[in-house]
Amino acid sequence: MTLSLDDLLNELHDRTKGKFEKKPTVVTKNDSFDVENLPVDKAEWHAIDDVVCVYFDLKSSTNLAKGRRPESTASIYDAGVGGVAKVLREFDAQFLDIQGDGGFGLFWGDKRFERAVTAGISIRTFSRDFTSQLDKKWPDAPSTGFKVGIGSGSLMAKRVGLPRHLEFQEPVWAGNPVNYAAKAAQQSDPERMSVTGSVYDNISANDFIVFSCACGDPSLLWESVTLDKIPDDEKFGQSLGSYWCENHGEEYCSAVLAGKSHRDDVPVSEREKKNRLAEGTVLTHAALKSRVKERERTRSVFAGLGPER
Ligand SMILES: [Zn+2]
Repeated sequence: MTLSLDDLLNELHDRTKGKFEKKPTVVTKNDSFDVENLPVDKAEWHAIDDVVCVYFDLKSSTNLAKGRRPESTASIYDAGVGGVAKVLREFDAQFLDIQGDGGFGLFWGDKRFERAVTAGISIRTFSRDFTSQLDKKWPDAPSTGFKVGIGSGSLMAKRVGLPRHLEFQEPVWAGNPVNYAAKAAQQSDPERMSVTGSVYDNISANDFIVFSCACGDPSLLWESVTLDKIPDDEKFGQSLGSYWCENHGEEYCSAVLAGKSHRDDVPVSEREKKNRLAEGTVLTHAALKSRVKERERTRSVFAGLGPER
């Protein structure tokens, strides 16, 4: 290979100039959006008005590899990242991207919020079992588990790369959902999953997701969280610390995916509490603090889709 750096940089200079002068077209595709049909050699991007992104990230992955045989590290990645990928596929994520110890799934079209959030809860539930098996096998391993964040909004995409070289063509996603979901995941820990404001708004009317199961007195499960790294109102998010219950998980998950949202067993007082909290989404710091205190007090034994750890 003979590379001329000067030629490359000059070529890129002209290319940038050309791209800025002749802007690409953006075509809104929404339900007919198909990753397979993304243009590569045409100056055209495909857009979707609303996409939900589930972002995941394995905590302390660098330290997990330390002092371990490559085969052991490989098996941790296989079990962990492979497991999450399987969950995202089962919940019909339309696109999956994995880079090392993390990645994301994208959901659009019918029941995108329901599929994304139930997938998120399933990843948490899987992560708890994965971590407990890992702890047993390697008791000296650092504490780990999957951090999960969910965001939503408009996206556009194109295959950027070299025409006719499939191995160099990657879909590029431009827009906030992936970025915001990643920031939400970064600020979370494996014990709590965070979702941005618009994600919670879209699922907050679903009793199966919002209130704990019938193993105890159904109560509100979500807590306000301010996602500091997000620059707009999407930062007023919510977080969840529970997992699918062994008794009710299957039933509630199928109910959500079947489009059901109402439960008769949720007390009026808990519904009112949810509505009260939703009214003051934009909170002062002091109000937020006292709210957190109140939540800690009221968090029931059966905080859950299943009990908290
Ligand atoms: Zn239960």
